[in-house]
Amino acid sequence: ACSLNGTPAAASADAPPAYEDPALPVDDRVEDLLSRMSLDDKIGQMTQVDRSALETRSDLAAYRIGSVLSGGGSVPTPNTPQAWAEMYDSFQRTALSTPLGIPMIYGVDAVHGHNNVRGATIFPHNIGLGATRDPGLVERIGRATAEEVSGTGVDWTFAPCLCVARDDRWGRTYESFGETPELPGAMTSLIDGLQGASLDAPGSILATAKHYIGDGGTTGGDDQGNTELSEAELRAIHLPPFREAVERGVGSVMVSYSSWNGAKLHGHRYLITDVLKGELGFTGFVVSDWAGVDQLDGREGFTASEVRDAVNAGIDMVMVPHDYRRFIELLRGEVRAGRVPMERVDDANRRILAKKFELGLFENPYTDRSYTSTIGSAAHRELAREAVRKSQVLLKNSGGLLPLAESAKVFVAGKNADDIGNQSGGWTITWQGSSGDITPGTTILEGMRAAASDPSKVAYDRYGNGIDGSYDVAVAVVGERPYAEMEGDRPGSMGLDQEDLTTLSRLKASGVPVVVVLVSGRPLDIAGQLDGWDALLASWLPGTEGAGVADVLYGGHAPTGKLPVTWMRSAGQQPVNDGDGKDALFPYGYGLTYTDAGPEEPGEPEEPEEPGEPGGPGQALCTADYRVVNQWSGGFQAEVTVRNNGSAPVDGWQVRWTPQGGFTVGSVWNATLTRSGDTVIATGAAWNARLAPDGSATFGFTAAGSPAVPDTVCGGS
Ligand code: BGC
Repeated sequence: ACSLNGTPAAASADAPPAYEDPALPVDDRVEDLLSRMSLDDKIGQMTQVDRSALETRSDLAAYRIGSVLSGGGSVPTPNTPQAWAEMYDSFQRTALSTPLGIPMIYGVDAVHGHNNVRGATIFPHNIGLGATRDPGLVERIGRATAEEVSGTGVDWTFAPCLCVARDDRWGRTYESFGETPELPGAMTSLIDGLQGASLDAPGSILATAKHYIGDGGTTGGDDQGNTELSEAELRAIHLPPFREAVERGVGSVMVSYSSWNGAKLHGHRYLITDVLKGELGFTGFVVSDWAGVDQLDGREGFTASEVRDAVNAGIDMVMVPHDYRRFIELLRGEVRAGRVPMERVDDANRRILAKKFELGLFENPYTDRSYTSTIGSAAHRELAREAVRKSQVLLKNSGGLLPLAESAKVFVAGKNADDIGNQSGGWTITWQGSSGDITPGTTILEGMRAAASDPSKVAYDRYGNGIDGSYDVAVAVVGERPYAEMEGDRPGSMGLDQEDLTTLSRLKASGVPVVVVLVSGRPLDIAGQLDGWDALLASWLPGTEGAGVADVLYGGHAPTGKLPVTWMRSAGQQPVNDGDGKDALFPYGYGLTYTDAGPEEPGEPEEPEEPGEPGGPGQALCTADYRVVNQWSGGFQAEVTVRNNGSAPVDGWQVRWTPQGGFTVGSVWNATLTRSGDTVIATGAAWNARLAPDGSATFGFTAAGSPAVPDTVCGGS
C-alpha cells in the first residue's frame, strides 16, 4: 500500500508478524518470534508441567508454559481417545490465548504403542522388538504409534529408550532393545516411523532418544544409579545409539537420572553440551527427566544452584512434576543475576521453537481427528501380532515337541496365560502397569484357543489344578508381573515366584510333556528347572496381541527371534554380556527354529539343519504346487496343494513360507488347511513375501508333534 506521507509503518503494523508466515524458513520465524518474547515468555517455553500438577488451567497462560506432559499414567478421565483429544485441545486453546499465541507441545510416554490410552494397540516392549532383529518392522511400529498418538492430539513421545541394558537386575531392562550398542542403534528406525517423512506430515510426532547416557550401565543394575566406566568404554558401549538417533534427526533427547563416575548427568555440561550438541551435532532440544533437576543435590525440591547447573549444562526444557512456580521464579532470578547467560536461554528457546514450527503446530495446533479411528485398529493390531510372532525366541524344543498340532489336546496353566495386564507389563495404562483386564486385547490363552482346530482342545486352569495324564502337552505361561523403573530392580533372586513353581510342579507331576512360555521383561534364573521342561519359549512382554504367541506355538509361523541379551546361568553371574567369556546359559543371538534338532546344549543356532531326515539327505518327502490367488505390493495370497510322497504322516502338518527359493521369508502364513487322503490344501496370505523373479516359490512343511519328520522343504513350481 502506498502512503502519502512516506512512512510505511501504519501498513506494516497491520501485517501479520513474520513468525506466523509458514512460507518463511523456520530459522527466520524463530528469530522473529524470539525478538518479540519477554524473559517470562522464554522461561515459560523452557518449562514442562505435568497435567496433574497444573493447579489451574489458566496458569498455563499466566506463566506462558510451553509444554505439558502426562507422565506415567497421568491420564484424563474417562480414559478414552475422545477425552484425550478434548483435553489436548483445551490446553492448546489456553496456550494460544496468550499475546504471542505460541502453541504448547504435549508429551507422553508412548513407549510400546500409545500405552496410556485404553483401547490403543499395545506393541511388544523393546526387548521383544530387539529379538526380531527387524528394523523395518520397528519403523512400521513407530509409524502406527505416531498415528494413534496423533489421534489424541499429542505431539511428542518420550521414546525410544536407547539404553544398552548391561545388567538384567535393572528394572528397565525390557525398555532396552538389547545389550550391544549395535542392536539399539539399528532400532533407532523407530524414530523414522514416529517422525515420519517430515515432522509436519500428518500423523507424525516428535521422538525422544532417552536416557542420555549410560542409564543401562549402572553398577548392580541400580535404577538411577552410577555408571562406572572409562570415557572410552562409555563411548564404545552407550554412545553409538545416540549417534544413530542424531543422524536420523531425532527431535529431542532426554537426560538420564543416572551418574557417570559419580557425576549426575543432569548437570553434566561436558556430556550434554560438548559431546551431544557439539561433537554429535544434535540440533533438537534436551529435556530433563521427571524431577531430574530438583534431585541434582540428592534432595527433593528445587534450589537455585540446581536450576542454574542444569540449564547451564545444556538442558533446554525442564520436566517439572510439581512446583512449577518455584522453578520459574528460580530460573528468572538466575538469569537476572547473570548466572544463567541470556544466550543460553535464547539457545534453549531457539531449539524448542524450531521443533514447534517444524511440527506445524502454528498452522495446525489442534487434534487431527482423522487419526482417532486408527487407535486400536485392526491393521495396527495385525502389525502388533506380526511383531509378537517375530519376537518369540525358542530356547529349547526337546524331541520337536513344538509346534503343537492344531488337534493336540492341550492343558494351559500359569498366571500369565490369560491376563492382558501381565502380558503387557509396565507402562500400560498406568506407570507400573497392573494385572487383569486393563485394556482390550487377546490373551495368550485366547490366541491358543483360536489357533486350535477346536477351542475345546485347550483346557485351562491358572494353577494347573485338574490336569491328568490324558493330555498331549501342558503349556505353562509363567514369568513376571508388571513393574516399571526402580520398582522392578531385582538385586537378589531372579527366579520364578512361588506360584509359578507350584503350578509347574503340578503339571510335571501329571507326566505330560511341559512347554514353558516365559512372559517376562528379561531373562530369569531358570537353569535349575530347565531339565524338567521339554520346551521353552521366551515371549518377553508381548502386549495386547497374544495371538502372535499362539501363531508360533502352533507353527503357523516358525520362531525366528534371537536373544537380544545374554541369558544368565544364575543371578549371581550378573552382569553377563556378549563376549565377556562367562559361561552363560544361552548366548546373545541364540534362538532355535523348528528345523533345528533342538539341542540340549546351544550350538550354532543360526543355520537350520539340512532337511531330509528321515528319508535320507535331501530326499523330498512331498511335492507342492501353488496358485497365486491375489497379489499386492509386498505380499501375496496363495493356494498351495501338497502331495505327500508317502513317507511322512500328513496329520498335523503346518505350512509356512521358508526363506528359500529366492524370496524373503513371509511374516505371516495364516493357512487354512484341508486334507483329503495324502493331499493337503492350504490357503492363506503372506505379507512381505515375494516370489522369485521367475515366479517360483519354495514352501516349508512342518509335521507338528512328530519328531520323526523335521521340517521339510518341498519344491514349488
Ligand atoms: C522416566 C522417563 C519418563 C518420565 C515421564 C521418568 O520417571 O524415567 O523415562 O519419560 O518419567 O513419564
